[in-house]
Amino acid sequence: MAIDPTLEYDDNNIFAKILRGEIPNKTVYENDYVLAFHDINPQAPHHILVIPKGAYVSWDDFSARGSDTEISEFVRGVGHVARQAGMVESGYRLLANIGRDGHQEVPHLHVHIFAGKPLGPMLNNG
Ligand code: 5GP
Repeated sequence: MAIDPTLEYDDNNIFAKILRGEIPNKTVYENDYVLAFHDINPQAPHHILVIPKGAYVSWDDFSARGSDTEISEFVRGVGHVARQAGMVESGYRLLANIGRDGHQEVPHLHVHIFAGKPLGPMLNNG
């Protein structure tokens, strides 16, 4: 079920619980601003989620309200995770789903990193 991106941040969303340590995750990288962990239902041989530690519903929310430091740390964090995972040479894909048509399911901003095989065309038709 896709979320409504205009909703207020919900402290009980699953990634908020992961950030509070209430739900386990397989962390691949963490600093003061970002957490990166394996997706529970991988859609590629490597599927990592990167989230900001701040309470932001979506890319829209983050780009409007995030501080310059949070935004730069997040962008650098995504790049760091991909480099750390050895994805640069073969390539990888970033994806951020926003709102209903973007089919965002978890209302805490996250960027998907996919890698590990040729990922095909950008979108399936239909
Ligand atoms: P969205 O459609 O919102 O962009 O993607 C949400 C992603 O979160 C999905 O790929 C889903 O597999 C992942 N996910 C949902 N719940 C959990 C969880 O509890 N742990 C982890 N590691 N990933 C989750």
